[in-house]
Amino acid sequence: VISIDGLKKSFGDLEVLKGVDLSVTRGEVVCVIGPSGSGKSTLLRCVNLLEEPTAGKIVVSGTELTDPDCDIDAARTRIGMVFQQFNLFAHLNVLDNLTIAQRKVLGRGKEESERVAKSNLERVGLSDKASAMPAQLSGGQQQRAAIARALSMNPDVMLFDEPTSALDPELVGDVLGVMRGLAEEGMTMLVVTHEMQFAREVADTVLFMDGGYVVEQGDPAQVIGAPRERRTKEFLARVL
Ligand code: ATP
Ligand code: MG
Repeated sequence: VISIDGLKKSFGDLEVLKGVDLSVTRGEVVCVIGPSGSGKSTLLRCVNLLEEPTAGKIVVSGTELTDPDCDIDAARTRIGMVFQQFNLFAHLNVLDNLTIAQRKVLGRGKEESERVAKSNLERVGLSDKASAMPAQLSGGQQQRAAIARALSMNPDVMLFDEPTSALDPELVGDVLGVMRGLAEEGMTMLVVTHEMQFAREVADTVLFMDGGYVVEQGDPAQVIGAPRERRTKEFLARVL
């Protein structure tokens, strides 16, 4: 579903991604771990062209995003993104948050978009919150609503950038539980996370980034349980 070759990204003189290769196959869950500033968010933002790559090739669902003739808006509708901050529209209730892009971008009618929205609210355990305003929800509920909003676009792949790191500890579990459920349903997911337990249990592949490179990747038991690279070992010693 995602294929990345030789991805580089610089901000001025600062080269943040120095040649990243990555592939995510259908139904695969890939977790990206690594120290602050290693380029994890930049990688994710390049995947839906919130950042324009400096070099390299990105293909998502058969469409080359780095092709200058690519219809980025069309390609983006197939990529769901969930950020650390929940980014709900504060002036819209939960249901409207979930239907607005379906209607404006996918051209779905009121009835269909509401049906899709409600089924996704149920999926994340928020069936009773359709008419609530975002400010009336807990952080964990807001994040689950943001996940339901992304799912309502029927994406081929979901990108998560530290979706639980802005949450109070007692709310983290609910959001991880929803993500775990998605993984079990076969959703293709690329997840930047500090939750090593989640990565260990849910990821098919863990990728350790440092200094703009993928230093090590493999199955979680290997990368987290028995890292080969010195930098991976040092990082895990600090976070575990
Ligand atoms: P964290 O774990 O703290 O979220 P990260 O691995 O996600 O870190 P990035 O956000 O990708 O790291 O940032 C990597 C580097 O790129 C940092 O040095 C950051 O300052 C720099 N950077 C990111 N975005 C920009 C930007 N828009 N302009 C300039 N520099 C940027
Ligand atoms: Mg980040």
